[in-house]
Amino acid sequence: MADKASDFSVRKEKKKVMDRMKRFTKKYERLDDALFVLARNKTELNRILKAYERDLLSILLPFFGGRPVEIVTKEAHKEFIEGLKGLTTKGVGLRRQDVTALLNANKTSLTSTIKNITRQNKSLLKTKFDLFSALANAARQPLEAFETVQSGANITALRDVLPGLTDKQISTFLTRDTITVKGKKFSKQLVEREWNRMVKTYGRSDTVQFRNGTNFPLRSYVDMKTNDMSREVQNMTVIQDSSANGVLTLKVSSHGASDSCRVHEGETVFINEAAKTAYRQQFPKDKFAARMRTVEDLKQNATHILKFNCKHRLLMNAIQFFADKDRQKVLKDNPHEKPVTETEFKKSAA
Ligand SMILES: [Zn+2]
Repeated sequence: MADKASDFSVRKEKKKVMDRMKRFTKKYERLDDALFVLARNKTELNRILKAYERDLLSILLPFFGGRPVEIVTKEAHKEFIEGLKGLTTKGVGLRRQDVTALLNANKTSLTSTIKNITRQNKSLLKTKFDLFSALANAARQPLEAFETVQSGANITALRDVLPGLTDKQISTFLTRDTITVKGKKFSKQLVEREWNRMVKTYGRSDTVQFRNGTNFPLRSYVDMKTNDMSREVQNMTVIQDSSANGVLTLKVSSHGASDSCRVHEGETVFINEAAKTAYRQQFPKDKFAARMRTVEDLKQNATHILKFNCKHRLLMNAIQFFADKDRQKVLKDNPHEKPVTETEFKKSAA
């Protein structure tokens, strides 16, 4: 697909986001330091986490709720209207949908994803800090009790074993495996072990957690998500415009995908269940329509189609305006077999 005029301005905005993300991750990397966390009380940590959330939103919302989305929506809308005009000679009652409503719907959808991700990150970090602090503090008490009773005796015994060392050096030696944070002594080994365990489960300040529990680099996620925005907005727009203009079906684009999306390339789908019902009432003889999927079916299935970082677009393919024979052919050739899962696909490709 050739570059569009809008690509340039979107790319410029994207670069701004990525530059600010770099500064953001740098600013909050202290949250990934166990000792920094141990040295702070709950109120202080909560305040930092609030700032973390606010800063992250202030970087992402201008992109996902602002100008770039506007540019892409308007362009996708224009493209739809032109495509529809070119498609039918029957004169569909072309309704120029209010672009403000389109824009609001797109912005709402994107910003709610961004807000959810940000909120999730804040809450994962908070849980991590709470659990970690509680464990580290619980383990500190036996350590201190042991040292209060034993340290005097140990130093005397060690004077003979380690001649030439001052009491201060011996005492350092004795406590070399502890860390003192704000006057409290912690076992170094334990702090490290617990912190690593928590990071594995809850991630870092610069990661984002996927549904399968993987912690993915936040900056890579934002990078992919900003790239994904145009495709997502185009698809959302074409669905809404279709709905407003009574277009019932769309087609999945093809670019020779090598992942599990492949099975859906060129597939004609209903924009939603209501469109499927309407179609079957209008064309009761089109028996293949019964097994045709909807956009939602694609989103819900196990393949990568229309999910995060998928490059496929939904294109105009209003088969309701086709001649009987052409319509039947589309339906007959349409992929309808059960889609393969990512794992099945890899197995068959191996
Ligand atoms: Zn795809």
